[in-house]
Amino acid sequence: MGAYLDLNPELTPTQQSLKEEMHRFAAEVARPASVELDKLADPEDVIKEGSVFWDVFRKFYELGHHVSALPEEVGGANIRGLDGHILAEEIGWGSSDFGVGLGVSAMPFMMGLVAATMTGNQRLIDDLVTPFVQDREAKLIGCWAITEPGHGSDCLAFGTGEYTDERTSFDTYGRHDGDDWLINGAKAAWVSNGTIATHAMVHFAIDRSKGMPGSGIAVIPLGLPGVSRGKPLNKIGQRALNQGEIFFDDVRIPKEYVFVEQDMYILAADLILSTANGGMGSLFTGVARAAFEEAMAYCKQRVQGGKLLSEHQLVQRKLFDMFIKVESARQLSRAVAVYNSAAMLPVSRLGIGSKVYCTQVAFEVASDAVQLFGGMGLSKECLVEKLFRDARAALIEDGSNDMLALAGAVQLIGSYV
Ligand SMILES: Cc1cc2nc3c(=O)[nH]c(=O)nc-3n(C[C@H](O)[C@H](O)[C@H](O)COP(=O)(O)OP(=O)(O)OC[C@H]3O[C@@H](n4cnc5c(N)ncnc54)[C@H](O)[C@@H]3O)c2cc1C
Repeated sequence: MGAYLDLNPELTPTQQSLKEEMHRFAAEVARPASVELDKLADPEDVIKEGSVFWDVFRKFYELGHHVSALPEEVGGANIRGLDGHILAEEIGWGSSDFGVGLGVSAMPFMMGLVAATMTGNQRLIDDLVTPFVQDREAKLIGCWAITEPGHGSDCLAFGTGEYTDERTSFDTYGRHDGDDWLINGAKAAWVSNGTIATHAMVHFAIDRSKGMPGSGIAVIPLGLPGVSRGKPLNKIGQRALNQGEIFFDDVRIPKEYVFVEQDMYILAADLILSTANGGMGSLFTGVARAAFEEAMAYCKQRVQGGKLLSEHQLVQRKLFDMFIKVESARQLSRAVAVYNSAAMLPVSRLGIGSKVYCTQVAFEVASDAVQLFGGMGLSKECLVEKLFRDARAALIEDGSNDMLALAGAVQLIGSYV
């Protein structure tokens, strides 16, 4: 739908062509695959050999978008700020499930690069970053393994200061063994890409008596002895995003793969969460826009009471409210993406604000779209039915919105003197 008014029309020619390229990928590759995979009853079938799932991943890597956020010095495209928002919004418009899966795929490699840059740890570059940058076939896929069967909200609210004793520490535990580390434990069935990833960025306890602040972060290659996986999770919404548990049984990793220890944990976890949350805000702005566009198109062709739905005043009011919500989500998530990418350290209450607000908008706009479609909106034939389920999952994904808002509030209140 070409008529959508963008309040930032001053895109440079490069940004305009990025937007068009990502829109093509979203419309021609990601959305059709996501719709097809959504219909599969068994999540095992989503990721089986020959599934269209793999075509989407391969195409994204072939185009080099998997390294879009990495700096040019290592072979990336250095896409940040507004450009990063454009990329995420377009993918979100096409498929939030692929948007999340492709986004988290880069996380262990990107964080490996950040750590290598700060510490001079060349092994992280040679073993992880360079092979990922060179990959054009989606052979290397990452995941972010933070939550555990016994730890969901508490491990994403570390900034509140409440999570500082043994009860709130990760159950996954790492200890020195000579020059190596041994990792034991389990990560939740919610780990995105959990069943297909080759590498995991794993949060684990080092000194359990300190709770969350006593934690560390490592990259763990998932082909190592002692790693096993659960079955793919069967869930409402985002069904092309495969998720599953990862188990670690005396998994031995070199000390260079532990790139964050206790002294830096809270800082690093905050950086990861604010970046991930900001990305979710951009992505789900795209979901909201997709639902709004579907509703607008339907209301301009469905006749009731002898008139188009779009000619009924209550419908007009609803469409206008949806438009304002989409545009305000877009403006907030864009502003946060621009601010946080330029800041020395991203401000997590901004990333959290973007995620909490934009996913809530996506859910409300998708719900209104279902309503405007009437009975048709409940049918599996309709895209809005899928968008509604996808948006519902996002209220919990990457931290439940209630819990994130509490963590953001603590930081916000602390920022006023
Ligand atoms: C689609 C999807 C993708 C995900 N991807 C990943 C991933 O890639 N990697 C990963 O590690 N995890 C992932 N997760 C897990 C996600 O981060 C957790 O589901 C989320 O943090 C909530 O944890 P929980 O499910 O254990 O719920 P709980 O923590 O058990 O919370 C249950 C309810 O209690 C509320 N609650 C909890 N504590 C408090 C409190 N102190 N005060 C007030 N209310 C509270 C919560 O708001 C929530 O409503 C994903 C989840 C989803 C749905």
